[in-house]
Amino acid sequence: MVEQQLRGRGITDERVLTAMGAVPREAFVPEESRHLAYADGALPIGFDQTISQPLMVAEICQSLLLTGDEKVLEIGTGSGYSAAVLSHLCKEVISIERIPELTNRAEAALRECGVERVTCISGDGSGGWPALAPYGAIAVHAGAPNLSERLVSQLEQGGRLVVPVSADGGEVLTRVTLGDTGQRNVEEIGPCRFVPLIGEAGYEG
Ligand code: SAH
Repeated sequence: MVEQQLRGRGITDERVLTAMGAVPREAFVPEESRHLAYADGALPIGFDQTISQPLMVAEICQSLLLTGDEKVLEIGTGSGYSAAVLSHLCKEVISIERIPELTNRAEAALRECGVERVTCISGDGSGGWPALAPYGAIAVHAGAPNLSERLVSQLEQGGRLVVPVSADGGEVLTRVTLGDTGQRNVEEIGPCRFVPLIGEAGYEG
C-alpha cells in the first residue's frame, strides 16, 4: 500500500509514510471487507459512512505539517483509522464523531491495536471543540460547506487547519495557516471527495 498507492502519488513525507505502514488498516474495516483492507479506495463502515481511501488519509496527514509536538483535533473519527495514523505523528489526538456507535467501535479498534494518546469524543464537531482549544492542527475528514472561521479561531499561532471545502460538485482540500500576527494563509491542495460534514456548522442531517 505504501509503495504502490502513496509514494510516488504525492506523498513524500517519510514520517507519514512510516505511520501509514505502521497502522494495520484491517483492524478498522468491518469483518466482511477485511480482504479489501489494503485496496486503493474508501470502504463502507455502516451508517452510510466510510473509512477513507489510504491516499486521502496520507494527504491530510501530510498537509498538516506535523512535527510531533502538537495537540491535534480530528473531526470525523469514523473507523478510527486516521486517528491511529495521526497518533504516530503528534503528541495527542482529540477525535470527534457524531455517530455514537462509530465512536464506540473506533475506541474498541484503537484499544485492540494498542493506540495511545487518542481521546474519542461523541458529538457534533462541525464547529470544532472549543472546550479543549487551542490546537496545533485541526484535520476535518468530512466535506464542509465553507471555510469555517470558528475552526480557524481554535488554532494556536502557526497552527494548520486542513479541511475539504465544497466546490463545483466536489471538494477542494484546503489548508489554512494561522500566522503569528493573526493573518490567515489559505492554500488549495487539490480536489477530493468526502462524505458530508453534518451538524450545526455543516450541512443539515
Ligand atoms: N477518518 C475516518 C473517515 C471518516 S468518514 C476514517 O479513517 O475512518 C467521515 C466521518 O465524519 C463519518 O464517520 C461521519 O459520521 C463523521 N462526521 C460527519 N459530520 C460530523 C460532525 N459534525 N462531527 C463529527 N463527525 C462528523
